Amino acid sequence: RAKARGRGRVEVHDPQTTSTAADRLRLLGELRRGIAEGQLRLVFQPQVRLSDGRVTGAEALVRWQHPTRGLLPPAEFIDVAEQSGLVRALGAWVLEAAVRQAARWARDPRAATVDVSVNLSARQLTDPGLVAAVSAVLARHRLPPHLLVLEVTETALIADPDAATAALAALKDLGVGVSVDDFGTGYASLTYLQRFPVGELKIDRSFVMGLGQSDGDDGIVRACVQLAHAVGVRAVAEGVETEEQRRALVAMGCDTVQGYFFSRPVDADALQEWARERRG
Ligand code: C2E
Ligand code: MG
Ligand code: MG
Ligand code: MG
Repeated sequence: RAKARGRGRVEVHDPQTTSTAADRLRLLGELRRGIAEGQLRLVFQPQVRLSDGRVTGAEALVRWQHPTRGLLPPAEFIDVAEQSGLVRALGAWVLEAAVRQAARWARDPRAATVDVSVNLSARQLTDPGLVAAVSAVLARHRLPPHLLVLEVTETALIADPDAATAALAALKDLGVGVSVDDFGTGYASLTYLQRFPVGELKIDRSFVMGLGQSDGDDGIVRACVQLAHAVGVRAVAEGVETEEQRRALVAMGCDTVQGYFFSRPVDADALQEWARERRG
């Protein structure tokens, strides 16, 4: 993935290269069963609007409660799922669970109403059944479409720009939001950026990390924020870990932020508790 290759960083442990084909095959079998047997979980990370400090959204991030290996992060299984096509089943589970949760929050008068962002794999984006599936899940849970945001990576968008444009246009017609994840690590041209009907650019953590430390990263993040605003979409920064980074993003006019400085990804109840404490 472009992100893993991004910025020439050395991977200390890459499960993809250190595991054998047999390991991957076994993992795949376990994951297939795990999905069927309800071993997947979602955690949620709050997204905070800088203008007023309100929690406006939450990103749903998948975890796998493996029967013997404990709670696994997506780095341990997403690539294998993506390569095998099992990512369809995984993606369908995530979409269903995230929309169910968003609808629960939307109905609960004591809960902060937040939109929920769901990560789509490249395969899901070009799946001809995607739009119908999204439409069906929204209807099933009676979630207002604007409370769902789909995150697609720049790399997935440019892999098949025509198919991506068509899918995004149909999603926009549904009223669902679209976010370009890991922005800055792919190679989307400015022409495409203008052409893709998206609502926000999510600036990759690798650039946010260097804020206040590296003039280069300051410049890149500032340029990304300006680029987002130039094409009329929101700028979101991910991976904000320090007050210094937060302050730099305020100064640059970034709209929304997400990162450990605010909260780690937590379970659904903890996210609402966090939002409540913040409001009070
Ligand atoms: P992403 O969509 O860019 O998600 C952000 C990742 O950065 C998450 O890792 C999150 O926990 C982590 N993060 C958030 N704030 C900070 C911070 O301040 N510092 C640091 N160091 N990290 C932070 P996670 O949950 O391990 O997910 C990794 C990637 O796996 C995601 O990157 C996304 O590409 C993929 N992923 C996660 N859930 C799903 C899913 O349901 N479906 C698909 N297709 N991919 C998923
Ligand atoms: Mg994401
Ligand atoms: Mg991201
Ligand atoms: Mg990222």
